[in-house]
Amino acid sequence: MGFFKKFLGGGEKKPTGEYVDKTGIYFYFQCENCGKRVRVRADKQHDLLSDGGSFIWHKTVVDSKCFRRMETVVYLDGHYNVTSYELTGGKFLTQAEYEAAEQAELAAKSQPPEASQSETAE
Ligand SMILES: [Zn+2]
Repeated sequence: MGFFKKFLGGGEKKPTGEYVDKTGIYFYFQCENCGKRVRVRADKQHDLLSDGGSFIWHKTVVDSKCFRRMETVVYLDGHYNVTSYELTGGKFLTQAEYEAAEQAELAAKSQPPEASQSETAE
């Protein structure tokens, strides 16, 4: 294991052993046609275009349900914070929204409909 720890020295591990992806940024989309959610990883070194001190990310996102294309351009500052974006064909979700929706979908599948709570989803 010592060898692998050294080998993976560029990454960082949380105390739980969970690997922290330091070069990836995750974006969450939802197709406006079918509602399918998509998680997309952008690599800081390979996918982002440097523009002075800031970054631009161009991406065509395709969901796995209706395969409609979502075209996005995301503008980030030097600390990889999103400052603005353009998106057609879908909408952005936060990580929390994405995970909550995935959880809700799993829960809905494993429960009879009448047992599910009727929260109004935005
Ligand atoms: Zn779709």
